[in-house]
Formats: sequence, C-alpha cells, structure tokens
Amino acid sequence: MARDTEVLVLGGGSTGCGIARDLAMRGLDVTLLERGTLTDGTTGRMHGLLHSGGRYAVTDRRSARECIAENEILREIAGHCVEMTGGLFVKRPEDPDAYFEEKLAGCRECGIPARVLSGREARDREPHLAMDIDRAIEVPDGAIDPFRLCVANAMDAEAHGARIETHAEVIDVLREGDDVYGVEVRYEADPRDRIGSSGGRRVGATEEITAEYVVNATGAWAGSLAAMAGLEVAVRPSKGAMVVTNVRQVDTVINRCRPKGDADIIVPHETTVILGTTDEEVADPDDYAEERWEVDLLIDTLAELVPILREARTIRSFWGVRPLYEPPERETADPTDVTREFFLLDHADRDGVSGMASIVGGKFTTYRLMAERVADHVCTELGVRANCETASEQLPGSENLEALEDAMDDFGLRSPVARRSRQRLGSRTREVLTLDEPNPVLCGCEAVTRAEVRDAIDQSGPDLNAVRIRTRASMGNCQGGFCCHTLAHELYPEYDERTVGAAFDELYEERWKGQRHALWGEQLSQAALTYALHAATMNRDRDPATGDEHVEYAAFDGGSRDVDGGNDFDRGHDGENHGD
Ligand SMILES: Cc1cc2nc3c(=O)[nH]c(=O)nc-3n(C[C@H](O)[C@H](O)[C@H](O)COP(=O)(O)OP(=O)(O)OC[C@H]3O[C@@H](n4cnc5c(N)ncnc54)[C@H](O)[C@@H]3O)c2cc1C
Repeated sequence: MARDTEVLVLGGGSTGCGIARDLAMRGLDVTLLERGTLTDGTTGRMHGLLHSGGRYAVTDRRSARECIAENEILREIAGHCVEMTGGLFVKRPEDPDAYFEEKLAGCRECGIPARVLSGREARDREPHLAMDIDRAIEVPDGAIDPFRLCVANAMDAEAHGARIETHAEVIDVLREGDDVYGVEVRYEADPRDRIGSSGGRRVGATEEITAEYVVNATGAWAGSLAAMAGLEVAVRPSKGAMVVTNVRQVDTVINRCRPKGDADIIVPHETTVILGTTDEEVADPDDYAEERWEVDLLIDTLAELVPILREARTIRSFWGVRPLYEPPERETADPTDVTREFFLLDHADRDGVSGMASIVGGKFTTYRLMAERVADHVCTELGVRANCETASEQLPGSENLEALEDAMDDFGLRSPVARRSRQRLGSRTREVLTLDEPNPVLCGCEAVTRAEVRDAIDQSGPDLNAVRIRTRASMGNCQGGFCCHTLAHELYPEYDERTVGAAFDELYEERWKGQRHALWGEQLSQAALTYALHAATMNRDRDPATGDEHVEYAAFDGGSRDVDGGNDFDRGHDGENHGD
C-alpha cells in the first residue's frame, strides 16, 4: 500500500527537529508533527548549557565523551546559536578535595580540555565569585540558544523537502496487527496561515497520515505516545526549576564542584543569567507543582558561589521536565542517579511491533548524535543507503562569520544593536536588514529592530510568541512592559484588529505567567509599573471602542489573585513556553 510519507517524526523538540533534518538530508520524505509550537516541550524550558561533558566526567563517562564531541561539532555547525563563555567548576572549602581530583582526572580521561585555576585566578576571570572559592577547573562549557538551534534544524529540514506541521497533535497511532503504519492527527490553528489565505486548515480537523516508519521523539511524553500503539515506554519524567536574573552577573558558566546536589549551575544567557536547577521525579509532565521553595533554594545555594545573587532582581522562574529513561532492570531509586544516556528503543526487537521506534533520555547537547543514531536505524529499516551529513553541514545562519562582519560594515551597523542582530540572524543578516526605510529598535532591552520583527512575522504569522522566540523581543528586563504593544502594532494592518488584540494578549500573558513567582522587591515595582502602563495608558482594563463597561484584563486579573498565596504556585504547569 502506498503511504503518505516515508517517515513520520513525532515531536518538535531538539530531538525531533534534528531527526527530521538528518533524514531529509539523506533524501527521505519526512513529515514532522508537533502538538504545540517548535520547542514547546522540554527544549523550550532547559538551562541553556552547552555541556563540555565536565558535569558527567566522574559518574557517567560515556555521556561525558558524547558531550565533548557534540560540543565541538555544534560550535562548528551552529556558531550563531552558541556563545563560548567557557565554564568553571569551582570548589568551596567544604567541597571534597578528592572529588575535585576525580573531576580533573575524569575530564582528562574523556578528552575534555581541563585546566586548574587558583581561587585568585578564578576571581580575576569572574570578579563576583565568592572570596572563599579555593580552586577551579576551567572547561569548554558554553551557552546555547535552544530556540534558534531547533528552528534552524526545522528550517533546514524544510529546505530539504520535509513537511513540518506545528499545532498538530497526534491523538492515535495506527496499527494493524503487529505493524504500525501511521498516526491520526488533530490540527489546531496554524500560526503560519494568514487571514484570508486559501488552504488554511480547519481548527479541530483530524487526518490520518500513513508512513513507512514512525519515530516517537516526544521526550517526556514518549510513554503516553507509545501507549497509543499499545506499547509501554517507562519514561521517568524529572522536573527542574530555573530562575532568571535581570542582569548578567557572570560571563562564564559556573558549576559547583561537588558530588551531586541541586542548585549548582549558573549559565549566562544573553543579557541575563539562569540559575538552576533541581531534579525531582514527577508522575505527569503536564501537571506538576511549581513551588516557591525551589526558587528560594536556587538563589540561596548559588549565592554561596556568587554572593551578589542575593541582591539580584529575579525577573522570572520556569520549570522543565527531563525525559529520563533507564532500562527496566536498573530500577534506580533516586532520580538524580538515573543516567543521562539516550536509548533508541526498536519496538520490533523489543516488543515484536514493527514500523516504529522511540528515542528517549539524552540531553539537548547530544541531540544531533541522537538524531544520527535514529536516522541510521530508520535507513536500515527502509533499506536506504545514505550517510549522515549533519556533523559537517552548517545550519542556516551560521556559515561564514567573515561575510557577516562585511555585512555589518556594509550596513554601517557597528552598534551593540547591530551586533545582537547579527548574532541572531547569522548569514541572513544582509537579507533581513536590507531596507529602504528606517529600522528603529522595537524592543529596547534586547535590542531587536523592526526588520527582525517583520521578518519573524513573515515566517510565523500573527503568533507573537513565535516572534518572541525567533527574535528575543520582550524577553529582557522589562518582560514586555515597554514593547508588547509595539510588537502587536507591527501586525496591523496586515492582520485585523481582533487578531492583533488577541496576539497582544497572548504575548503579554506568556510574559506575565513567568513573573508571578518572583514578585518581591524591585521586580514587584516593575510589575506595578507595567500594570500602570498597560491598564491606564492603553485602556487594557476598559475598552471604550467596544462600548464594553469593563473588559477583563485576563493576564493581570488571572495572575495577581494569589501573588502572596500558594495557589498559583501549586496550580502546576500551565503550558507556558518559557525558556528565557
Ligand atoms: C530543567 C532542565 C534543564 C536542562 N538543561 C539542559 C542543559 O542545560 N543542557 C542540555 O544539554 N540539556 C539540558 N536539559 C535536557 C534537555 O533539555 C532535553 O533532554 C531535551 O531538550 C529534550 O528534547 P526532546 O526533543 O527529546 O524533547 P522535547 O523538547 O520535550 O520535545 C518533545 C515534543 O513532543 C511534543 N509532543 C508531545 N506529545 C505529542 C503528541 N501527542 N503529538 C505531537 N507532539 C507531541 C511536545 O510538545 C514536545 O515539543 C535540561 C532539561 C531540564 C528539564
């Protein structure tokens, strides 16, 4: 029977997008289905650390070796998504000397460049480190932008002929006897459709898509997806909390050098730092508590390494869920001991059901390797002979730094704004910034210009959260207080007033959700200022044009009820795409 596509990839996180790119580059016909936007799952809620492997050099050397190899590859193929900050494993007096030595030996054994610094040398590099840090190991950790990297993979997959469907939820896996032959998918509104354009799909419509092979890359949701095929995949979802501060207190990734524990990594990310993280097994990746003590723990513990964090303004907190997995025979009790290895589960071998495999575990840093292994497997199953090229083919926007420098000169763009634009756009800088009209900055905190916003709208439609992910607009210090409305304004008149209003509300609600956990001190003042701006100067609490007596401003009204109570915290995860 002829099938609709050769390979269906389920899940639009880093793993799924990486698999789609790899298979499409090998010439296969690929369709990727993602229930939300790309990065909607764990990929959009991670810490942003491009691991050197140092973290795993004592306990999990296989993962450590994979990390350093992939770290080097990603720096080559995705330079515009990586900031090579370098990393330090810093040791406090109470942290064991023996562990420091083991870490150093482990790094060297795994091929991770490692150099010992004295406490003074470490502070010369990072002046805000605590005075009692006595030694440090320098490693090639970096900061990575998961949104840009994921989208770059999807763009390249599309350029090689793949079909990428977002807002497309798999609701059933089609199976005949012992053979999986496709899925049933339900579509939500597609943000890439324009008002009035033909071919827009109907919200709620369902479709059966058949395929030669189905890859389950749904991460923490891989268990529920496999269950649709009558298969059992015992993922052990583990939640982690992260906190974003208002400025960049350190320029280097700071890791605590001790055996294990929560709250031991600080990652600089753009204009902020992200504190993380915790590790607690949860039953349901869509429903878990987001608790204030986790935020306090991160700040208190990491301030032992960088004391000025005690006074830092925390602009938001967010949570993600690791898609951990271990073979059933291991039964590790403590989730922090569950391996970070990845596993390719061939359901033909494992369960006697052909036509489907699941990929579970792993890390963002190793997404490309995971994708390569999956693509090798699929090619073997389908009898395709084609080599993996993802380790050497650069991702869109990353090639040729010199050309980018030239483009900067051409445009006369040498300001920090230009540098940030150039970093974000990579090789597309010239294409996006060539304009016949002025190009003002729309988001001051993140230095995002109108040209970038318009380019993102061209690609994403009226979904301003997708525009945010592409450009970082509204993700800085003011959390959209000063720019949400200017971004919404860019949609008009291409989109009608209602669409613009709804897009504005959705964008602002996303910003507000992450701030509720951090409302004290100066951040509370910032939130009050934003409220005043939006409610008073833009009539967001009363809309005279519609004649409504009172239009509820859902973002504020919904969130402010329980600022000091526990309810909003305990209500659990509500589907926000965090990640800044
Ligand atoms: C707190 C935390 C911090 C982390 N920090 C780091 C770090 O600093 N560095 C690092 O290397 N790794 C880090 N990780 C690990 C890393 O983020 C993950 O391993 C990786 O992002 C997983 O990607 P994925 O594509 O496998 O899963 P996901 O990104 O979760 O993608 C799965 C996708 O499947 C979709 N989906 C689910 N069900 C369906 C359905 N029925 N139909 C269609 N689509 C569906 C989901 O919406 C989701 O987008 C961290 C993880 C956590 C939790």
